[in-house]
Amino acid sequence: MIIDCHGHYTTAPDALGAYREQQKSDLAADPMFQHQKGILTISDDELRESVEGAQLRLQKERGTDRTIFSPRASWMGHDVGNESTSKFWSEHCNELIYRLTELYPDNFIGGCQLPQTPGAGLQSSVAELERCVLEFDFVGFNLNLDPSGGHWTSPPLGDRYWYPIYEKMCELDVPAMIHVSGCCNKAFHTTGSYYLSADTVAFMQLMTSTVCQDFPDIKFIIPHGGGAVPYHWGRFRGLADMLKLPPLSELLMKNVFFDTCVYHQPGIDLLVDVIPVENILFASEMVGAVRGIDSETGYYFDDTKRYIDNCAALSPADKSAIFEGNARRVFSRMKA
Ligand SMILES: [Zn+2]
Repeated sequence: MIIDCHGHYTTAPDALGAYREQQKSDLAADPMFQHQKGILTISDDELRESVEGAQLRLQKERGTDRTIFSPRASWMGHDVGNESTSKFWSEHCNELIYRLTELYPDNFIGGCQLPQTPGAGLQSSVAELERCVLEFDFVGFNLNLDPSGGHWTSPPLGDRYWYPIYEKMCELDVPAMIHVSGCCNKAFHTTGSYYLSADTVAFMQLMTSTVCQDFPDIKFIIPHGGGAVPYHWGRFRGLADMLKLPPLSELLMKNVFFDTCVYHQPGIDLLVDVIPVENILFASEMVGAVRGIDSETGYYFDDTKRYIDNCAALSPADKSAIFEGNARRVFSRMKA
């Protein structure tokens, strides 16, 4: 079995976007407008139609089996509005994912987004994580380390601010994929520079924290191949040494995993050369950031299974660990 641990619902019916636009227009006159949850009307047929020509078709074509499926990351939009905005938006987005997991239990396993708001506490994040895991059988979630959308106003991941969510992660045994949302700082391009910067930032914040010592069983996935981390592994090892930290293998590699959302063969070859196989989880992030066909190969950039299949350095056992075994270990609530 091939488990893709990173897919987003980027093809939701228009009604979801319309709900969000209504939220934004409510906020235009009053940034503290207190929303009601309201009703989002999308039929099962519309849900089916939204994935059958996209994620489901690509799963079949590319030969992957299951996707850990979460709401569209760039739409989490934690910078928008206030706590009530993010709470109801997240609930609706997560409920659509739940319905898809009920319609296609063999293809999709749920991952949620959390309500987060810059400057606010994490109580509603903890509550929504618990709801999605216990009521909807979700197995993971996306944690945004920069809910300001590119202004970096939140404390670093080692700060006690984040500990309520870490406690809940350990209690429920669910991993967090550390994933930012759309960027509202013009210095960054959302998927080109902001996502990859945030991945790199997350690793360094965890490295210079005691999170993995305070929560020995906690699990984080850093997406997009770990940002710049594998390529600059020597820098991070050297910094750990200079900062008198234990070697990275002891410090955080029992807790931190990288996915394979790296969209060319040399990048994947480097990832598996540098990072231990047991820390790598297969993922494609389709249908997502890069949707075109590579003119040099004739294949879709995000058809990452092809790169793992063609990676000469990996044994069949390694490939099986990356495709399935590691995901089952990290997403331990996933049923057989
Ligand atoms: Zn993503």
